[in-house]
Amino acid sequence: MTSNLSDRIKVFGPVPSRRLGRSIGINNIPPKICSYACVYCQLGRAIKMSTNRQIFYDPDDLFAEVKMRVENVRNNGEKIDYLTIVPDGEPTLDINLGRLIALLKSLNIPVAVITNTSLIDSPDVRSELYGADWVSLKIDAVSDSSWKKIDRPHQNVRLDKIHRAATIFAKQFAGQLVTETMLIKGVNDSAEDLLKTAKFIDQINPTIAYLAIPTRPPAEKWALAPNEAKINQAYQIFSQHVDKVEYLIGYEGNEFSSRGNVVEDILSITAVHPMREDAILEYLSNVDTDFSAIDEMVRSGWLMVTEYCGKRFYLRNLKK
Ligand code: SF4
Repeated sequence: MTSNLSDRIKVFGPVPSRRLGRSIGINNIPPKICSYACVYCQLGRAIKMSTNRQIFYDPDDLFAEVKMRVENVRNNGEKIDYLTIVPDGEPTLDINLGRLIALLKSLNIPVAVITNTSLIDSPDVRSELYGADWVSLKIDAVSDSSWKKIDRPHQNVRLDKIHRAATIFAKQFAGQLVTETMLIKGVNDSAEDLLKTAKFIDQINPTIAYLAIPTRPPAEKWALAPNEAKINQAYQIFSQHVDKVEYLIGYEGNEFSSRGNVVEDILSITAVHPMREDAILEYLSNVDTDFSAIDEMVRSGWLMVTEYCGKRFYLRNLKK
């Protein structure tokens, strides 16, 4: 399928991203062609499910649009940290992905790809992704039943094949590999599920394992974020198996700059991971401040308190 480049926006930004700094987004798939129909998809319900790689847009046209955007941004003196292939569907369905990545690399800006991992079993897909500098693999669940419930895969996609291929990819990939796990209440947030997922992610050994929750309206109204205690539990279970775990909740960390450093620091840190009470006390003692600022953040609803394994943790209220 080919489509006129002018019929929709293919290149956007730069937009701020906590993971990738200032990133230009590249949309190489028409909406919304995907191998998954995730219950939390912010693009709504599936329009066309597919596992066939095909031609969508001419990569040279797409590249010309990116090049023009990069020149404009650079002429304005703005910085670009990444060119990110993050479409309205699954980017590896584009049979020209490898060519697109190669063209983008000529701009001397690191290239990132955010994939749902479903096609990683294809040696062609793996070899094309090896050309990127940063790849995010979606690993929502490792148990077959939870994976089917949350990602609702196309019937051609097999979880055991994804696991084998993702492990191969992780070993061969020379760039920065991260994983992303979306937590959905009552679907993949049981301790048993989280433990299996964390153990598998440990084998992949990503630079960072991100834990996400829905921050925009999901395809299914019932696809909700777990409560703070569950999110903290997920963080603790993942941390026991994976070196670096961070939340991914869309918080960019600067909106409190006028409210004072303690508030700004604590909300920025707890947006990325929960803080144990003793860590907070140590931080406060270093900045010579008492606990009243924390109490106030709890009272006003910016921070939540939850217990795990007998310890008290403070988390940013993810609904604020
Ligand atoms: S993989 Fe991404 S685009 Fe596809 S359904 Fe899931 S969230 Fe939506």
